[in-house]
Amino acid sequence: MLISIVVPVYNEEENIRTFYDAVTEVMSGLEYDHELIYVDDGSSDSSAMILREIAFNDKRVKVILLARNFGHQLALTCGLDFAHGDAVITMDGDMQHPPALIPELVRLWESGYDVVRTIRDSTEDATWAKAFTSKYYYKLMNKMASVPIVEGGSDFRLLNRKALETLKRFREHGRFLRGIVGDLGYRQAELHFVAPPRFAGVSKFNVRKMLHFALDGVTAFSRVPLRAALYGGIICGGISFLLILHIIYVYLTGQALNGWTTLGVSILFLGGIQLIGIGIIGEYVGRVFEEVKQRPLYWVKSAINFEETQEIIQP
Ligand code: UDP
Ligand code: MG
Repeated sequence: MLISIVVPVYNEEENIRTFYDAVTEVMSGLEYDHELIYVDDGSSDSSAMILREIAFNDKRVKVILLARNFGHQLALTCGLDFAHGDAVITMDGDMQHPPALIPELVRLWESGYDVVRTIRDSTEDATWAKAFTSKYYYKLMNKMASVPIVEGGSDFRLLNRKALETLKRFREHGRFLRGIVGDLGYRQAELHFVAPPRFAGVSKFNVRKMLHFALDGVTAFSRVPLRAALYGGIICGGISFLLILHIIYVYLTGQALNGWTTLGVSILFLGGIQLIGIGIIGEYVGRVFEEVKQRPLYWVKSAINFEETQEIIQP
């Protein structure tokens, strides 16, 4: 039996070796063969060079170099597409997903679970702002989304071949794997952990990437914002109707011209509500636009230690 470990890396030159050593060490304690698939997400530092070197010395290490930066979720997807294992484990390459937990994931898989998800109870070095926004984001998501999205869910998880093959059939662009995996069903186990600080380097998620990711999560799994815009519209319509009655009353009693305050406020208010509504619709139309183009999710520059290198580079 083979276990694949998929790791997306983006400018992680200081972490790759540490991670490789830790995983190799942990895997030597298990009675499974393993392959370690690094997906280089268009790094601009020496990550690619270090990966080539490791792969040269250890044939169990496979490397896919993406043509450019596609983002964490797509890099993960690429690794999953080319994993051969009977089980596949995805994890971050910065040691925030402790390799020491792998045996536990594997044990749960052996006991018959199809998917083992991990829940990050806390992150040791998270800033107050990141912990706060993450917590309330999940709370909000759970109220809105059509599938359960567990608070603290992470992309550190194990999938067996059956769950992986199903996951591979989800080809949407703006992807939120946590939601998709929650939607898969099968027998799922949960494992709690505390994420240690990053081993080296800085987080590769800036505010813009976080915001994109958060919006993808909401719009991929919920139509609540669209409905909220509709309800907002109905409420505003009701209020406007009362205002119209008021205006007619004012006109009939001969006090016209007095109402410019009401007028000004209602124009601004309604204008604002309309813009929000249009923005929400635009967000969904944008998603439709992305999907309808049917572009590939990612493309590959080169692959190392794969038997099917040619198919990976030119599918
Ligand atoms: N990552 C990636 N592409 C990106 C951003 C991040 O492949 O565009 C990788 C990164 O190298 C790391 C993992 O995704 O292995 C998680 O990223 P990071 O640790 O920066 O996120 P955080 O833990 O701060 O949420
Ligand atoms: Mg990290």
